[in-house]
Amino acid sequence: MASFDYIIVGAGSAGAALAYRLTEDGKSRVLLVEAGPASHPYSRLPISFGLLIDNPTANWRFQSEPEPGTANRRIPVPRGKMLGGSSSINGLVYVRGQHLDYDTWAQLGNRGWSWQDVEPLFRRMENYEKGGDGVRGSGGPLGVSEVGDQNPLYDALFAAAVAAGYKRNPDYNGADQEGIVKTQATIWRGRRMSTAHCYLRPAMGRANLQVITEAVTEHLLLEGKKCVGVAYRRDGQLSEARAEREVVLCAGGVSSPQILELSGVGRPDILQANGIEVRHALPAVGENLRDHINARIQWRLKVPHVSYNVKARGINLVGQVIKYLATGGGFLSLPSAPLLAFLKTRPELATPDVQMHLVPYAIKDPKRRKLQDFPGMTIGCYQLRPESLGSIHIQSPDPSLQPAIRFNFLGDPLDRQTMVAGFRMIRRIANAAPMDPFRDDEFSPGTGIESDDEILSWIRQNSETAYHPIGTCRMGSGPNSVVDRNLKVHGLEGLRIADGSICPTMPSGNTNAPCIMIGEKAADMIRSGG
Ligand SMILES: Cc1cc2nc3c(=O)[nH]c(=O)nc-3n(C[C@H](O)[C@H](O)[C@H](O)COP(=O)(O)OP(=O)(O)OC[C@H]3O[C@@H](n4cnc5c(N)ncnc54)[C@H](O)[C@@H]3O)c2cc1C
Repeated sequence: MASFDYIIVGAGSAGAALAYRLTEDGKSRVLLVEAGPASHPYSRLPISFGLLIDNPTANWRFQSEPEPGTANRRIPVPRGKMLGGSSSINGLVYVRGQHLDYDTWAQLGNRGWSWQDVEPLFRRMENYEKGGDGVRGSGGPLGVSEVGDQNPLYDALFAAAVAAGYKRNPDYNGADQEGIVKTQATIWRGRRMSTAHCYLRPAMGRANLQVITEAVTEHLLLEGKKCVGVAYRRDGQLSEARAEREVVLCAGGVSSPQILELSGVGRPDILQANGIEVRHALPAVGENLRDHINARIQWRLKVPHVSYNVKARGINLVGQVIKYLATGGGFLSLPSAPLLAFLKTRPELATPDVQMHLVPYAIKDPKRRKLQDFPGMTIGCYQLRPESLGSIHIQSPDPSLQPAIRFNFLGDPLDRQTMVAGFRMIRRIANAAPMDPFRDDEFSPGTGIESDDEILSWIRQNSETAYHPIGTCRMGSGPNSVVDRNLKVHGLEGLRIADGSICPTMPSGNTNAPCIMIGEKAADMIRSGG
């Protein structure tokens, strides 16, 4: 059996960063096992967000279970399946989160995770085009730039937000998140900055890193209460690899709890119901799922040329391709939203509680991101820190079957109240006077959805996830957690988890940057013997 010092399962946002740092010393022998392929022809393009959202080779294409709180719909749950993981297919929006998020983690008992502790890691990983000022990083592996696209619609949206009483903010990843902003994106000179590109490409030249792709880890190898390796299936064949020091699960918020359960680690009733021997009872595995439910409002626009529904259709699309190839700009270089807003639904709040994505086009089908045939725009909104807790558990001992994802979206009254308030704030901005020259009718949901009950019911029937499932292997010290503050699995030796699943609460924003930070921090802990 092949033997390594460390085995990392999953080459996504966290796993790739961890592999890069752990092999920096040139000595530690690391095996990185990734279920997906090395790459995809679209994976360096920012627009791969739309192109790979439903692609079976680069995307796990999970679905949630039908739940009454979201009108018994199955909601698509895309997750990246290739080197770079979800950072290879995501919407490229770069958000560190609020300082308060990490102070809350520390306050919950996770010493070492306060903002003061993690801020140097965010700086270390960044190569921000305006960085190097002691607040933002420069020279790190991850290229981050502000959206350069210019559009009179953006100017009108900024003016409308200010008219509605909100402020502009030059750097939402700096001291203060609040305000309407130009998006900072994991894009550099028009190309996607996935962790495959930024972290793995340079690390794969190192003799002490071995990467195996298209290899699905089916379960962990446990000897008593010690994890000693992994079993993975490649080309139909099951192989084993041994870790002399540690295995680190970085398979993401959906798959890390699945792998634990398939290995006999988790809630005894769930394991037994699936015919799996209980090797280590750990009731919090798969619990504490949180995600952002995203409600969108869409308008027709009176001014066709400001909308990418027109700018990127027919012959104009050829123009956009030429523009992209010549300058790295235009529609094909945009993140999923060129403008964001981080706002408070109640003035007494200390920090923003909703995030909006302002998008210069309208879509027909959010599942496939098909563009509308007429000029339009979209503003989506989610509650930054949802309270509702769901779960992810296996529903079969077969590793090739997806686990059951139950979001329990809108289960908590605060979440319902905040989503309705955020929905109304979107309308306040879009209906402000500076938008008059641009805005035509609101075609979705449209007039007729006005009362709180109507809005909530519409959100239940139409909203999708914003693709940020976290918390299913929660970090903490009590029975409601899976890993300790050093990311070690409670009660087992030789096993850590480092990915979005460990977040004790939701970071206030999109989750790629926090996951990369978690990979960076795991590397420091392992290297320092923590
Ligand atoms: C469509 C989409 C859009 C998004 N948009 C944004 C955005 O604009 N901004 C932002 O900040 N965040 C965004 N996110 C979220 C963000 O990308 C993720 O939170 C983050 O990448 C998760 O990192 P991770 O390391 O936890 O997991 P992932 O990056 O998902 O990595 C997990 C890796 O493990 C592999 N894996 C899983 N199971 C196994 C197994 N059994 N064996 C071997 N390998 C396995 C997977 O294939 C994957 O490569 C988006 C996500 C998606 C899916």
